[in-house]
Amino acid sequence: MKAAPFAYAKPGSLREAFALLERHGDRAKLLAGGQSLIAALNMRLATPSILVDLTAIPGIDGIQLRGDHLAIGALVRHREIERSELVAKHAPLLSQAAPHIAHVAIRNAGTIGGSLAMADPAAEWPACCVALEAHIVAASPKGERRIPATKFFKSLFTTALAPREIITAVEVPVAGANTRSAFLELVRRRGDYAIVGLAAHTQLERGALTRLRLVYLGVGDAPVSAAGAMEKLEGKRATPEAIAAAQAALEQDLSPAADLTHSAATKLHLARVLLGRALAALVT
Ligand SMILES: Cc1cc2nc3c(=O)[nH]c(=O)nc-3n(C[C@H](O)[C@H](O)[C@H](O)COP(=O)(O)OP(=O)(O)OC[C@H]3O[C@@H](n4cnc5c(N)ncnc54)[C@H](O)[C@@H]3O)c2cc1C
Repeated sequence: MKAAPFAYAKPGSLREAFALLERHGDRAKLLAGGQSLIAALNMRLATPSILVDLTAIPGIDGIQLRGDHLAIGALVRHREIERSELVAKHAPLLSQAAPHIAHVAIRNAGTIGGSLAMADPAAEWPACCVALEAHIVAASPKGERRIPATKFFKSLFTTALAPREIITAVEVPVAGANTRSAFLELVRRRGDYAIVGLAAHTQLERGALTRLRLVYLGVGDAPVSAAGAMEKLEGKRATPEAIAAAQAALEQDLSPAADLTHSAATKLHLARVLLGRALAALVT
């Protein structure tokens, strides 16, 4: 199938982009890397009358260290994150997750802002941003607001963004000396969306897991924090008993739906397997 006809605009500033959104309302769609949107257009799942291409807007790209956080522009491509030394040093969870996103050709084009706005529950960046307690910076003609990632992902493909807001950046707290992170996922074929994935992040204090965050992807309508498992492990060493208790707690934390190839029970089992592997990675 081919996309329905649409107009195209490439604004040179946020102000111009807001003016286009104001003029065209719901008939306008923002375009970043196009790796999700163009497929949706071609399948006629979306039929906007105009695409507003964000890629010529200055100031919403690049990766910068700003005090206690790393500011990653909305237009930063997945591949840039994967290769960034700043990210590897200050937000290693993102470096670990990046190679799991699709294939290199898609990572060369897709952007972090597009992925967060898309809010696919099997995508890597949303779960990582929740685990890292990042903030998503959204701009509108009224100004800028910082939305905690923990409150940003509402449900399937639905975020806290207001209709004419544009994501301009993601702010990720920088890792400290005791920070440990692990990103793991299981897929049928390399490059596929995750069957189940886990973004794990902690501070290791004299061998004990503190401020532990365990956020799953692929098991719900949005990233899922495994609250019970986190509670079982908080302040403890990852002993076999503590790991088993946390794995048991996943039964209450997660209620994955079956997909075309995996039953809900299989997904829960895989989530437990990933938890065991992630904890081993965090403490070694
Ligand atoms: C074959 C294939 C496999 C894939 N596998 C994976 C995978 O394993 N994991 C994964 O995470 N992703 C995967 N993707 C999706 C890919 O990561 C996309 O890059 C991402 O979902 C969207 O980013 P984009 O920049 O391409 O956004 P676009 O496709 O341009 O836009 C996506 C949506 O976000 C909106 N949007 C874009 N930028 C902004 C912004 N700054 N502010 C507000 N709204 C905005 C658009 O209006 C649109 O609704 C895959 C894609 C393909 C084609």
